[in-house]
Amino acid sequence: MYRSHDCGELRLSHINTEVTLSGWVQKSRDKGFIIWVDLRDRYGVTQLIFDEERTSKAIIEQAQKLGREFVIQVKGTVIERESKNKNIPTGDVEVLVKELTILNEAKLPPFTIEDKTDGGEELRMKYRYLDIRRNPVKNNLIFRSKVTQEVRNFLSNQDFIEVETPYLIKSTPEGARDFVVPSRMNEGEFYALPQSPQTFKQLLMVGGMDKYFQIVKCFRDEDLRADRQPEFTQIDCEMAFVDQEDILNIFENLTRHLLKEVNGVEIEKFPRMLYDDAMRLYGNDKPDIRFGMEFGELNAITQHKEFKVFNDAELVVGIAIPGGNSYTRKEIDKLIDWVKRPQVGALGMIYSRCNDDGSFKSSVDKFYDQDDLAKWAEVTGAKAGDLVVVLSGDTNKVRAQLSALRMEIAERLGLRDSKVFAPLWVIDFPLLELDEETGHYHAMHHPFTSPKPGQIELLDSKPGEVKANAYDLVLNGNEIGGGSIRIHDKETQAIMLKHLGFSEEEAKAQFGFLMDAFEYGAPPHGGLAFGLDRLVSILGGQETIRDFIAFPKNNSGRDVMIDAPAKLDNAQLKELSLQLDLPKE
Ligand code: ASP
Repeated sequence: MYRSHDCGELRLSHINTEVTLSGWVQKSRDKGFIIWVDLRDRYGVTQLIFDEERTSKAIIEQAQKLGREFVIQVKGTVIERESKNKNIPTGDVEVLVKELTILNEAKLPPFTIEDKTDGGEELRMKYRYLDIRRNPVKNNLIFRSKVTQEVRNFLSNQDFIEVETPYLIKSTPEGARDFVVPSRMNEGEFYALPQSPQTFKQLLMVGGMDKYFQIVKCFRDEDLRADRQPEFTQIDCEMAFVDQEDILNIFENLTRHLLKEVNGVEIEKFPRMLYDDAMRLYGNDKPDIRFGMEFGELNAITQHKEFKVFNDAELVVGIAIPGGNSYTRKEIDKLIDWVKRPQVGALGMIYSRCNDDGSFKSSVDKFYDQDDLAKWAEVTGAKAGDLVVVLSGDTNKVRAQLSALRMEIAERLGLRDSKVFAPLWVIDFPLLELDEETGHYHAMHHPFTSPKPGQIELLDSKPGEVKANAYDLVLNGNEIGGGSIRIHDKETQAIMLKHLGFSEEEAKAQFGFLMDAFEYGAPPHGGLAFGLDRLVSILGGQETIRDFIAFPKNNSGRDVMIDAPAKLDNAQLKELSLQLDLPKE
């Protein structure tokens, strides 16, 4: 028996109990006649004591050799500590050691295994198994496990069936590049790893499974913008004989269940916001509604004067920064520099101070009088003491820029409190999205998303205006889930694919199996998928998903611990019928 108790378990009630513990040496303090060792396992830390009077000389000598992270087993008696440590649950007691076995020695770890470590990120990734011994990482993994457990509990109670779908498949169009796997048995042919199980879960509905879920890995070969992983986990769900309302209700309840069980937070009904309103009021389809600072559109009240910058703009839009009138000129200039950074890309920023006496002082006083500026304040909801800031230009760009500024200000004002949860549904997304570069439309969600009833006719005349039965669940400014009601008849699916630029042959080659299935009695169906990594990190009150993944990849998609990806040797390439001599461009 390696242990009778774990290292987080012993209390005053165990005094005089003979115990066996196993774990890692967190640290040891050698006072010569007395040695203390902190022994750690997943459950906590227990202090061990070796002292000259009560411990044999041989064991003391052995204890003196213990280095950090040695794996040991001890037998001894629980005694009351003289100086108690109120910071840890086991702090009232210690174990007087009578037997010590070194189970495994350890090299000195490359960084300290403490909550606040001296190890940089790259080093900790290389030795992730050591990093996992640290409380912050360990607790995140335990937290993640609790969340997934609650997801399974909730969905199983609602009669969902967990079904696994294959990883070696062919392309699923979620809009990213595929990771591909060469097939040895089918020379020159490749599988694609699923960007999501989308088509399979729809086929499960045709197969009559009715309610499906899967906690599943998805693979997308994207440039890794901040905090993305090439493989990530979804809670993937699909239901038959449902409309949008059914889906929103079930998954709102799931989210509410998680917030309650995991965070102890109770939230009433989630608000719903039209996509168009989200864009108009927050410049963003995943608005953070923990705070206000809603956009006020100013075209109507600014374009009647001689100010060319505003007159030429498609959109003039502002927000009121609470208390912003206290900014010095220098601070405002810094803010202007901030919006002009290439990452934000604004050309400039106009502002109007809302003075306590009800007057205004703007950077464009030459063009706008007090009455004009009073209207700016009214439309942006600014009060005395606030600062109205205004951007102008192309609608989509300006919205993105002002949204970035709004988030930045909120961050600086401490309005993005990770303990506050503000979920909402964003609904009625456009079906199609114009790719500015190619001038082509592509599916905003994916090609299986159903247009709103009666809108399919608009596809030819006004494709950009067709709305979809698609919805996102947004939490604290992050999209944590998204889905849609699907097309379930072959004709509509064919029309949709045609509009996305697939020829009949291409459509058949890529999605023939799905269209065929639709001819064998496909029920109306719909679903959604949550991004589990992101969901867990937000519920856990943190920003980075990497911190909640046991073995994440770095920003270049590398696993620096196992050193992957790696080259294949020639024999393996040959077996796979692969040749790597790409022609030089
Ligand atoms: N497959 C979709 C995604 O990965 C989710 C869904 O439509 O259910 O975003």
